[in-house]
Amino acid sequence: MSLKIILGDITEQKTDAIVNAANTSLLGGGGVDGAIHRVAGPGLLEECRGLRGCETGQAKITKGYRLPAAYVIHTPGPIWQGGGQGEAELLASCYKSCLDLAAAHQCKTIAFPSISTGVYRFPLEQGAAIAVKTILQWLAQNGDRQQVQQVTMVCFDEKTKQAYDQALTEANSFAGNKPKAEA
Ligand code: ADP
Repeated sequence: MSLKIILGDITEQKTDAIVNAANTSLLGGGGVDGAIHRVAGPGLLEECRGLRGCETGQAKITKGYRLPAAYVIHTPGPIWQGGGQGEAELLASCYKSCLDLAAAHQCKTIAFPSISTGVYRFPLEQGAAIAVKTILQWLAQNGDRQQVQQVTMVCFDEKTKQAYDQALTEANSFAGNKPKAEA
């Protein structure tokens, strides 16, 4: 089990599931959401219509349609409002909800984008630290269930990748972090 950080496009990932940084309507939008819907095709939007939205911090799953991934896990991240509206807890809840849902669907591999740090303006360094910490904690607590074995953070630009690499280095500098993450 491990956490890997790469530079890339999430729509090209051949993982069992990819995560969509959606909005609460689940009816598509800009950024990574728009890219996923463009590649998946109209079947994805049709299935999303039937889901009747999703609350911030929660997650819902659909098929992947024309994507290489079998499933898309949609999670609306928090919109940054200064940090006093529970944004950090909600962001952690997004990562955890997606991992729980992936495990429930027997996914062994899952790829995440950097939730909320785009249009939703969550500060990148803080968002990266929350993502890395939540994923590593989840893997440490759920590893023996042999379900999700590989988590990939797919960063769309160098700046984002640097922030996640840094967050992973910092998390690994604390003793006793198991499983060991790959750089
Ligand atoms: P949010 O509204 O949750 O902030 P955005 O889509 O605006 O979501 O941005 C989230 C992150 O996803 C940003 O780092 C953005 O650069 C990145 N992103 C955009 N397109 C893709 C893609 N095709 N693959 C991976 N990441 C992407």
